Amino acid sequence: MIRGADLAAIVGIALGSALLVGVIGLAALRLSRRASMLVQVSIVALTGAVSVAVGMTAVARAMFLSPHDLLVSLWVAGIAAIVSLGVAVALAVTFVRQARRVRRIAEALGDGGAVEAPDGSGSELAAVADQLARTSRRLEEARTEVAALDASRRELIAWISHDLRTPLAGLRAMAEALEDGMADDPQRFHRQMRVQVDHLSDLVDDLFELSKIQSGRLALTMETVSLHDLVSDAVAELRALADARQVTIRESPRPDVLVRGDPRELGRVVGNLLINAIQYSPPGRAVSVTTHIDDSGRAVLGVVDQGGGIPPEDLERVFEAGWRAAASRTPDAGGTGTVWGRSSGAGLGLAIAQGIVVAHDGEIRARNVEGGSRFEVLLPQATAA
Ligand code: ADP
Repeated sequence: MIRGADLAAIVGIALGSALLVGVIGLAALRLSRRASMLVQVSIVALTGAVSVAVGMTAVARAMFLSPHDLLVSLWVAGIAAIVSLGVAVALAVTFVRQARRVRRIAEALGDGGAVEAPDGSGSELAAVADQLARTSRRLEEARTEVAALDASRRELIAWISHDLRTPLAGLRAMAEALEDGMADDPQRFHRQMRVQVDHLSDLVDDLFELSKIQSGRLALTMETVSLHDLVSDAVAELRALADARQVTIRESPRPDVLVRGDPRELGRVVGNLLINAIQYSPPGRAVSVTTHIDDSGRAVLGVVDQGGGIPPEDLERVFEAGWRAAASRTPDAGGTGTVWGRSSGAGLGLAIAQGIVVAHDGEIRARNVEGGSRFEVLLPQATAA
């Protein structure tokens, strides 16, 4: 049995020795803070073993342990120290390996390369590596999206420059002919110049509208709008165009559906869809406009034409700004022009329509139906006040 006073002395001596070794260990850790994890973990393991050895030696000096018992204890402590050092080194090696993997992932992230998800070992470092790999995937997706956006913007600029060049060249030629007194019918030249200027100004208006939509600056004046009224107004305005192209418009927006939106902008959507349906329909065919409420309670406006439809590979692209089917770009297709106060043939109509519909929390989609295509606009219904 150890007496209370002896026990207190042993605890005091052991605590003092352990604290002394602990402080030295902390100092060593501080000095080696730039050293590898292997060195630091070894210092921690050695601090424990040395504090046991110093404590025992001090206790033996105070005559609580015989020299023989001290030697035995030091052997036991020494062997335990070697084994714990081995375990600590093994742990450090694992840490170092994971840290290297995290570094590699971080480097790959910086270089923009693909990063593989690490095999999950559950440690904090593995979690960091996993998070980095996920961040890298998101970055990669964002990069691809930005590259695609950039490419489509370049395409748009190239297409629009091309569309501007033709009327500008025409205007220049006519102006020069008038200046030189070479125009045999100046009135006709003036009329043609007026048409070209109108077209250019509509094209610029459309580009401005598109830029407002894309930068989120489209200001909507929201009110309750009747789809029936929107359709009737658009049909009335496009009747002359339809008659000129010998296309019949079948208007049956029943049941009438109320939506919340900006009547001017939604009218523009209906107009753009109708213009396309009329323009891409051969003479003698019909375009029909319908409304209904779908299973999820959304208001649906459908515009169906008999223009032969859109090639399946183009269906995805029709809403891209500036895109139009290759056939629409040939000179025989009539090039660009003005229809009902907007540029036609520049490939902006559906992009604008989509931007407006999305700004109304709606959806616009296109598919082929028998003999033609069907464009649908889905909008949330107006809720009763
Ligand atoms: P555009 O002013 O050229 O008509 P849009 O953005 O309205 O521009 O349409 C883009 C392209 O989508 C058109 O050039 C045409 O190739 C195709 N398209 C649009 N609507 C129809 C339709 N109803 N039938 C066939 N093709 C269509």
